[in-house]
Amino acid sequence: KELPADTILENSRRQVVNSCYSFVTPTKTAKPSLVHVSKEMLETIGLTSEDAKSDDFLNVFTGNEILENTQPFAMCYGGHQFGNWAGQLGDGRAINLTEIVHNNKRWAIQLKGAGETPYSRTADGLAVLRSSVREYLCSEAMFHLGVPTTRALSLSLSGSEVLRDVMYNGNPAYEKGAIVSRLAPSFIRFGNFEILASRQDIETLKQLTDYTIKHFYPGISSEGKQKYLDFLTEVRNKTIDMIVHWQRVGFVHGVMNTDNMSILGLTIDYGPYGWLEGYDLGWTPNTTDIQNKRYRFENQPNIGIWNLLKLANALYPLIEEVDPLQEILNDYHAIFKEKYLKMLQEKIGLFSSEESDSELIGRLEETLQLTETDMTIFFRNLANVSANDDVDSAFKKVTNAFYVLDEVRGEIKDYWQDWFKRYLQRLQREIFSNTERKIKMDLVNPKYVLRNYMAQLAIDDADKGDYKLIDELYQMLKNPYSEQPKNEKWFAKRPEWARNKVGCSM
Ligand code: AMP
Ligand code: MG
Ligand code: MG
Repeated sequence: KELPADTILENSRRQVVNSCYSFVTPTKTAKPSLVHVSKEMLETIGLTSEDAKSDDFLNVFTGNEILENTQPFAMCYGGHQFGNWAGQLGDGRAINLTEIVHNNKRWAIQLKGAGETPYSRTADGLAVLRSSVREYLCSEAMFHLGVPTTRALSLSLSGSEVLRDVMYNGNPAYEKGAIVSRLAPSFIRFGNFEILASRQDIETLKQLTDYTIKHFYPGISSEGKQKYLDFLTEVRNKTIDMIVHWQRVGFVHGVMNTDNMSILGLTIDYGPYGWLEGYDLGWTPNTTDIQNKRYRFENQPNIGIWNLLKLANALYPLIEEVDPLQEILNDYHAIFKEKYLKMLQEKIGLFSSEESDSELIGRLEETLQLTETDMTIFFRNLANVSANDDVDSAFKKVTNAFYVLDEVRGEIKDYWQDWFKRYLQRLQREIFSNTERKIKMDLVNPKYVLRNYMAQLAIDDADKGDYKLIDELYQMLKNPYSEQPKNEKWFAKRPEWARNKVGCSM
C-alpha cells in the first residue's frame, strides 16, 4: 500500500507503509552464465550438480524465470546508518524468490543484484562481479569457519556491464554485472522492526515479531510481554556469539548498520568487509569510515550493543516497560566479556581457567600491536610451542608472523620475551599434553582465511573469464582448520603490493 498521493513530497522516496514487503519481478538479464555453484548448498535444498547444469537452474537463479506458484518480493526495512536514523531503506538490490523446506530446514532464497525494486532509491539494483565474488567466497568461508552466516548457492554473470565508481582507483568504470543467489532461514534484520516502530505501525510490528518468533525462535514459549522480552534476550545472545566469532577469526564487517544486523544473529551483507592481517585493533576495511572508524575491529562488540539498543527501542511498543528491557541490555557486557575471554583462552591453548588469564591475554593483545604481526599466522603457529620450550625457542616459532622481523628488537623484543616467559609458566599448569593442546588450538585458530588480496586475485582472474582461482579458494576454504600441503602458499603474510587493497562495497 502507498501513502495517499498528496502526502508524497517531490523528490522524497516512495514510502511503503503498513506492510513488510513489496512484490517485485526480477529484471531479465542480457546473457546470463554460471560462474560457480556450491554443491553443498545444492544438496542442502534438495538439488544435484546435474540440476545445476540445466537452463532452468540458470534462469531461475539469475531472475530470468519465476518458479511456478511463487511471488518474489523485496523487504521493507529501515536502519541506523553510521549512527543516524536513515528512514526507509529496504531491499534495493535483493529479491526474495521463495522459501523452501528441505530436511526439515527452512531456507529463504534471495537474488542479490537482480534489478530494481521499490527500495532501490537512486541506485540501479545491480551488483558487479567484484562484490559478488567477495560475497560468494566469504559467506561460504565464514560458514566453514563456524561463524553464523548467510550462505551462497550460486554466482552468475548477468551478461551486462554496470557503471561503478571504483573507490580504489577513483575512476568510474564499467564492470561486469553479476548475481549471487544466497540462502538463510530468514533475511529479516533489526531494521525491519525499526521501520515499523518509527511509523508507529504497532499492528504490523506485532505481526512481524510474532511471525519471527513463531518460525525462528520456536523455543520461546512465554506469552504476552514476556515473549517479546525473551525474544530480545535470544537475539542479544545470538548477536554476542556472532561477534565473538568475528573477533576470533579476525573478521571486520565494515558496515554494522542496523539494517545489516540479522535478527537471527547471522553475518549478513558482505560489502566492504575485510580480514585482519596485522593485528590492529583500530583497523577498518571501510574506506568511507576512515574518519571515525566507527566499525573498526575493536569496536564491533560496542556496536553490537548499540544496535541491540535500537532493536529494544523498536520492540518497546510491544512491552511498554523500560526496566526489563534495560536489564537485558545491561547484561550484554558481562556476557560478552566472559565469552570473549573463553574464546581467547582457547586461542592461546588455555583450557583450564585461572584468574590471571585475562591479564596474560591483555598483555598479548598489547604486544601483538607493537609491530605489524599477522593475526592468523601468529595464533596458528603459537600451537607449535611446547610447555617445556625455553623463551627463545618458543619465540622463534612465531617470528614468521612478523611483517618486518627487524623491527622486533630492543624494547619490543623484551616485551615479547616477557610475554612468553609468563605464557610458558602458565602452560606448565595446563592439563593437556602439547600434542593434545595443539589439536584443540588448531580447531579455533584457522590456517586459511580469505585474505583481502586473495579475493582480489580471484576477482582479477574472473574479470578475464578465468574462474579457476575462485574454485581453488572455494575448495580450500571449506577446510580452514586443516593442514593442506598443496595450499601452503596461502598460509602466508599479505604481499607488500596488497597493503590497503580492499574491495569496496558496491
Ligand atoms: P548496504 O550499505 O549495502 O547495507 O546498503 C544500504 C542500502 O542501499 C540498502 O537499502 C540496499 O538495498 C541499498 N543498495 C545498495 N546498493 C544498491 C544498488 N546497487 N541498487 C539499489 N540499492 C542498493
Ligand atoms: Mg545492506
Ligand atoms: Mg551491501
